[in-house]
Amino acid sequence: MSHVLAAVAWPYANGPRHIGHVSGFGVPSDVFSRYMRMAGHDVLMVSGTDEHGTPIQVQADADGVTPRELADRYNRVIVEDLHGLGLTYDLFTRTTTRNHYAVVQELFTVLSRNGYIVARTTLGAISPSTGRTLPDRYIEGTCPICGYESARGDQCDNCGNQLDPEQLINPRSKINGETPEFVETEHFFLDLPAFAEAIGRWLDQRENWRPNVLKFSRNLLDDLQPRAITRDLEWGVPIPLDGWRDRTDKRIYVWFDAVIGYLSASIEWARRTGDPEAWRQWWSADGLGKDAQSYYFMGKDNIVFHSVIWPALLLGYSGEGDKGGEPGDLGRLNLPTEVVSSEYLTMEGKKFSSSRRVVIYVRDFLERYDADALRYFIAAAGPESTDTDFTWSEFVRRNNDELVAGWGNLVNRSVSMAAKNFGAIPEAGELTPADEALLAVAKAGFGTVGELIGKHRQKAAIGEAMKVVAEANKYLSEQAPWKLKAEEDKPRQATVLHVALQVVSDANTLLTPFLPHSAQKVFELLGGQGVHAPMPEIVEVDDLDGGPSYPVLMGDYSVGARWESVPLVAGTPLAAPKPVFRKLEPSVVDEELARLES
Ligand SMILES: [Zn+2]
Repeated sequence: MSHVLAAVAWPYANGPRHIGHVSGFGVPSDVFSRYMRMAGHDVLMVSGTDEHGTPIQVQADADGVTPRELADRYNRVIVEDLHGLGLTYDLFTRTTTRNHYAVVQELFTVLSRNGYIVARTTLGAISPSTGRTLPDRYIEGTCPICGYESARGDQCDNCGNQLDPEQLINPRSKINGETPEFVETEHFFLDLPAFAEAIGRWLDQRENWRPNVLKFSRNLLDDLQPRAITRDLEWGVPIPLDGWRDRTDKRIYVWFDAVIGYLSASIEWARRTGDPEAWRQWWSADGLGKDAQSYYFMGKDNIVFHSVIWPALLLGYSGEGDKGGEPGDLGRLNLPTEVVSSEYLTMEGKKFSSSRRVVIYVRDFLERYDADALRYFIAAAGPESTDTDFTWSEFVRRNNDELVAGWGNLVNRSVSMAAKNFGAIPEAGELTPADEALLAVAKAGFGTVGELIGKHRQKAAIGEAMKVVAEANKYLSEQAPWKLKAEEDKPRQATVLHVALQVVSDANTLLTPFLPHSAQKVFELLGGQGVHAPMPEIVEVDDLDGGPSYPVLMGDYSVGARWESVPLVAGTPLAAPKPVFRKLEPSVVDEELARLES
């Protein structure tokens, strides 16, 4: 048993979540956390909405609201989206809390004191017509590296290189097409090259990472440059240095503040539990948290922030880069155990795009289909290690052939036969080799499925769990308990149904991390009472330091099933079951495709 931090990517608060977002980080991190809790670990799963930066400022301007109002709106929407999927955050908060500001400023201050933050004069773009700062990503031009004509001021989407806007050839404003003016402006930079050696040593010790993530991260070290961590912007965390604190035109860059959210959310969680030091058990590199493990979940476009930049911040704060230094008041902090990055989900062969309406929002999805149907698809066919396409026909096929005809059918026919013939879980007599073999397959699943989830191979893990289901269906067909109706066959019928129900119970536990909503239902069908699969709650909380109140996700996840086979008790009453999963009509595919085109 150990302390396990599940650090989940922070969704940007500029719109509702679509299923591409949640298949990359949301559902996989929940499957992992649920399993680790069931296996007896002390899990802390944290995240929140990422609410600063120019895109929110620009969108708020366009909508005629303040950035805070826009962030409030989408923070709430996203909290509801994630709640609908049953994602068990210990705390899902946001980056506009006063606690977050304080933690970000603490890291900035100590990094600066340790010499890892340097001031530089750079060129900043302003709009000649308004005199306002023009954000990097709202400048477009030709990439100086590959010649792509629609490169953005922060990055070229064609060659993937990070850019500064003044490097673009023929720069133009995406807002009104005018040519930006570049003026001198002072900014702070994180001295990333001072961490190259320490990060390299740390990466050399990483085991079990997905090879592509490790290789990509190592390559980033070859060409580390100091990176700007402040911006000409009004919306963000103020710079906590003398002479800068009260300036309203300079803010800490959004990526710097958002990545610190893992730590600030852990601290907020601890403060809310009444033990403000409790976060140290997951973070402190000395004493309390020294054996803790931390897993970071994200899409592949965010690897650089988690395998290079965040480790650099943690090292610098701990005084462990080339320039040395002293740790701040929070003490030396743990580096990530593993960066778990997923690939992209596309949809009907296209990249998700809200503007081009190639999108399925989580809330729309959950209005028409069950959360577990989506969770099943993501686990069984999601973008775990290769880019993957979501198609409606494949979604319907998997729902009908695998969930309904495979797992749902096993539950339904075994429970209804037992309810009809015995009204309760029947007593098992002497077991045959076939009975013993099936029970052994189910028991073995706890080892294989658990180990695969622990290694972030969820696709293989759910495949193994579904193999137990297939074996049980095969067993029922072979044993044909419906034929054992004669009086002298009754004891055998009871034994077969007892064995089948025991395996349903075991398979249900194996599937619980993936399908928590239906797992609770199956547990109740078997006569179980109380919580089998805990669920998050939306709670309206006060800002701990006097800011406005806001909704968070939290929950009591100490209750619920353990990762083990629990023997069923003969005589437990059973009722005729209601179907656990819904079969979808083939016409769903055409309806959904028509919706996309409309
Ligand atoms: Zn390029």
